[in-house]
Amino acid sequence: MARVVQKFGGSSVADAESIRRVARRVVETQRAGHQVTVVISAMGDTTDELFDLAKQVSTNPPARELDMLLTAGERMSAALLAMAIDDLGAQARSYTGSQAGVITTAAHGNARIIDITPGRIEKALAKGYIVIVAGFQGVAQDTKDITTLGRGASDTTAVALAGALGAEHCEIYTDVDGVFSADPRIVPQARRLPRISYEEMLELAATGAKVLHLRCVEYARREMVPIHVRSSFSDRPGTWVTHYEEGDAMEAALISGVSHDRSEAKITVVGVPDQIGKAARVFSVIAEADIDIDMIVQNASVGDHSTAISFTLADAERPKAIEALRAVQAEIGFADVTYDDAIGKVSIIGVGMRSHPGVTARFFSALAQAGVNIEMISTSEIRISVVVDENDVEAAVRAAHTAFGLDSSSGEAVVYAGTGR
Ligand code: ADP
Ligand code: ASP
Ligand code: MG
Repeated sequence: MARVVQKFGGSSVADAESIRRVARRVVETQRAGHQVTVVISAMGDTTDELFDLAKQVSTNPPARELDMLLTAGERMSAALLAMAIDDLGAQARSYTGSQAGVITTAAHGNARIIDITPGRIEKALAKGYIVIVAGFQGVAQDTKDITTLGRGASDTTAVALAGALGAEHCEIYTDVDGVFSADPRIVPQARRLPRISYEEMLELAATGAKVLHLRCVEYARREMVPIHVRSSFSDRPGTWVTHYEEGDAMEAALISGVSHDRSEAKITVVGVPDQIGKAARVFSVIAEADIDIDMIVQNASVGDHSTAISFTLADAERPKAIEALRAVQAEIGFADVTYDDAIGKVSIIGVGMRSHPGVTARFFSALAQAGVNIEMISTSEIRISVVVDENDVEAAVRAAHTAFGLDSSSGEAVVYAGTGR
């Protein structure tokens, strides 16, 4: 009897009818002879709505209480799904992340899974129950407080459980038919990728393709869990995220996908004295504030022997970063700190670019033809990213998608549900 883990995202359980539809699929899987563990997200945009509510009662909601609040969303859908399954004559048991043995760090809002102790799940599966686990949450090892694993992290709960339970694979059910060559919401000609390597998927997830949570892909690669991303609204095959065999990369397309991210902002430290150690100080201050940065550009020193250093970071971290820099302005001796939150990042990803020169030229030419100005650039072995004006993001994604021959005429890029929030 094979074990599978199935995860259903928020748009797949947005209302009562959707929950009943998911229940039918889960029960069918069990009746086909599988031991089924389901990881469930909060209904529709519930997490965003709970977040908005918290902001209405407090200007700065305490992180511990925010986690108590947000985890309620997943708990509701877990219990409702168990009821819908019961109604179909099968037996289900729902569990919170804590009950399911998801042990995490104490970093509220962004906790990491440090261990999974799935004793209760094992027992329930052995008794023939369908197990339902509330996604995106756990319990901190030290404080025993309830934690959340970051936005979109029900994917990570699912893959981590698949690893711990020795499941054959992990199915991620969402509102599109798999991983596409670009977000189908902005590129209707995007093509479904039947297969993608963990490596490429990591880059796509890290650069904004929210179809899979970044840490879920990291986990899957480490634990060798194959992921099948597919739609809960159709029976079409989706995308397999797996290891590439030797030779696969040779046949790989030059570019597998184009991603975009509007969640970053750019901070510029102006008039930094052009002296050894100043850049180090700027970034030490940011690191001490526990802020991750993405791209960096330092302008060449001009007549007054000062430079400007720009870097990008999550827009949510921007106020904290600016505050930290202002506190050391006199000490470092820079003139000012400015920011721009109307930026977007567009990336092209593909293992094929390792062995093909000219990819950068083709990408930048496509942007130029689309009238898009490039503000910053960064690259890895299999990725090229640029920062552009927020208003140019969609044009840039479409231009790159066309330039690398990714446009498909099959009309398969269907978006079945969701608000894209
Ligand atoms: P869920 O609620 O099921 O977790 P998400 O909204 O987190 O779903 O992720 C699915 C969404 O990811 C799709 O609706 C799509 O708009 C977006 N997306 C972004 N990039 C891609 C891509 N390359 N392939 C497929 N979907 C993508
Ligand atoms: N409900 C959570 C969120 O919206 C987790 C998830 O859906 O994966 O971020
Ligand atoms: Mg998601």
